[in-house]
Amino acid sequence: MIKRVYKFGGASVKDADAVKNIARILKADHTDDLMIVVSAMGKTTNAIEKALSQFREAENELSINALSDLMQYHEEIMLKLFDDENNPVFQKVADLFLDLYLNLLKKNLNYDYHYDITVSFGELISTTIIAAYLQTQGLGAVWIDARDYLITDARFRDANPDFDECRLKMQNLNKNHSGELVVTQGFIGSSATPKSTVTLGREGSDFSAAVFAYCLDAEEVVIWKDVDGIRNADPKKFDKTVKIPHLSYQEAIELAFYGASVIHSKTIKPLQNKNIPLKVKCFLDEKIEPTVIDGFSGFIDYCPSFIVKEKQTLVSITPKDFSFMNEKNISFLFGIFNEIGIHANMIQTSALMLSVCFNNDKMKLESLMLSVSDKFFVRYNDDLQLFTVRHYREGVEEAFVKGRKVILEQRNRNSIQLVFA
Ligand code: ASP
Ligand code: MG
Repeated sequence: MIKRVYKFGGASVKDADAVKNIARILKADHTDDLMIVVSAMGKTTNAIEKALSQFREAENELSINALSDLMQYHEEIMLKLFDDENNPVFQKVADLFLDLYLNLLKKNLNYDYHYDITVSFGELISTTIIAAYLQTQGLGAVWIDARDYLITDARFRDANPDFDECRLKMQNLNKNHSGELVVTQGFIGSSATPKSTVTLGREGSDFSAAVFAYCLDAEEVVIWKDVDGIRNADPKKFDKTVKIPHLSYQEAIELAFYGASVIHSKTIKPLQNKNIPLKVKCFLDEKIEPTVIDGFSGFIDYCPSFIVKEKQTLVSITPKDFSFMNEKNISFLFGIFNEIGIHANMIQTSALMLSVCFNNDKMKLESLMLSVSDKFFVRYNDDLQLFTVRHYREGVEEAFVKGRKVILEQRNRNSIQLVFA
């Protein structure tokens, strides 16, 4: 029976040493009840996104050389991992790249659909390499295709798992399981009708791990990271940060919702529903105590957490006929947001205006304008920064604000949110 799910993100498989480190961690553990969910290597997803734009925008058909940097990156990793150049993994990865290329050429497809059938190759390639490497290390890894188990709706680029379907498939996985280490992809799944590859949204591998854990009735999920757990701010952006040793599901979901990059925001719900604890552990030193997220319902005295979300678009929408921004207008507009897949990070209304802050996305912004512009004026600013403080205490934001111009501001008892140009 699979009882534990480990998730290894892009940074934990970014080069050959990182992959070797995973093997080291697994050898020191027991793997007979373990599934590992793995992301694309390093920045591969970004690279395929970029290639996708190039292929779609190119006037003439591009050659496979457009993928040469990405192929070389993976090739170099493989050459360091496999002594035997006849290992079938080299051919398998070459085939996957060819398949990726052929899919990139289908430039007339709907963008979201095209995105999913191409960007998913990052995970297919990484898990193929990692499973093969773990096999050479005596870890007996079995590669499975997440698309056979993680069944979703057909909302491309933001697919929603059908938990009942997933459960049926995944329970079969458990029935047939006899102690082998299972290796699968994060981020990807398959829609039921039409049957096609989907992705769960950027950084979605955490969510995949949670869906697998939920459906397999696992006892724990571990997300392996290059940091020592969850901190109250991103150490890359703030000088002094402190580790948060223990979080309730509720607090974790709030932090993730506001954009703390630690875990994907959809990850917590399935875990909370089955009371499965989530540990955030450091892959550089497993002896460091993890941050634990669980169903603890007592009092935890959280310190203020600082969350910075870059690349934000702020749209301001006003009815052309001077009607109020009332329930009817708001429900119409949010219906459109939902259809387009715009997730609001901050919302504010006034008599005549709805202001919504969301992650920059040119296509979604264009669709929004097209859908509402007959009845509403839409103005927008992009490349803004959204700054949130959870467990706000008077004045804690000052060092960050330092005389910068605040475009929008919102406070409640617990949090403050500021939007900066
Ligand atoms: N590879 C995907 C991404 O970079 C999914 C993930 O890493 O979680 O967004
Ligand atoms: Mg990631």
